Amino acid sequence: MWDRLHWLSQGLRRSAGIVLDGLMPPCCPGCGAPVHGIQGLCATCFAALTFISAPYCARCGLPFALPNAASPASACPACQTRPPVFQRGRAAFVYDEAAQRLILPFKHSDRTELAPLLGRLMARAASPLLAEADLILPVPLHRSRLAARRYNQAALLALDLARRAGKPCAVDALLRRRATVPLGNLSAAGRHREVDMAFAIRTAMRQRLQGQRLLIVDDVMTSGATLNACAKLLLLAGAAGVDALVAARVPDPRLREDWQIGHALAEAGEPGKSHHRTHE
Ligand SMILES: [Zn+2]
Ligand SMILES: [Zn+2]
Repeated sequence: MWDRLHWLSQGLRRSAGIVLDGLMPPCCPGCGAPVHGIQGLCATCFAALTFISAPYCARCGLPFALPNAASPASACPACQTRPPVFQRGRAAFVYDEAAQRLILPFKHSDRTELAPLLGRLMARAASPLLAEADLILPVPLHRSRLAARRYNQAALLALDLARRAGKPCAVDALLRRRATVPLGNLSAAGRHREVDMAFAIRTAMRQRLQGQRLLIVDDVMTSGATLNACAKLLLLAGAAGVDALVAARVPDPRLREDWQIGHALAEAGEPGKSHHRTHE
């Protein structure tokens, strides 16, 4: 029932603006229960999120299981061996069931009003990255997917973060040249092949990226393959540095083999020649 009320409330809000604020109570975007204030989660949904906080890997942001496992400057075993292409990766929370209740509607059900809530949590998780960024860029959608969805959820997050940090946002600097298939069912090498060469930089933006510290934004980091492919392209184009920020990340370290295979393929010079796994 809360679900329906929530949909009604949000739909009416969108069409009738603030006139309804006095009539329809704000709803928790996680469960639809009434909440005080706008764009807030209820206490239960907030407590259900697994926020990522230190200690975590200085490179990829992977949370360390043990509180005293490492100093703030240290990297996880996978990053010590073969770090990702992006310099620092951060996420606001773990992509678990509670996170999916926010991310999936935001991504697939037009719940674009969730962007400020997610943006606030992301900004809190990565204030140094935002402070040091010269320019913020979203991971792009392919135009066919953009036409179907009508918005790029990563661009909404990037715009919200840029507004909070007072930084410029280039929503169209990166292009997705082809629609990649969902990466979840592919092997690590398959994921790497799927995203490598999938992206391009818009010609008119190349000059704008020179010597800039960039922050790439996406909703979810699964294997890191997509963010890594974008970072590689941007660094090759002359960016001074690239960091990555997502709302939620899948924390399974086994997915990190993407980064390792990406490096191994580059070193081997041909796909599939060398699979260097260092972390299982
Ligand atoms: Zn709730
Ligand atoms: Zn790491």
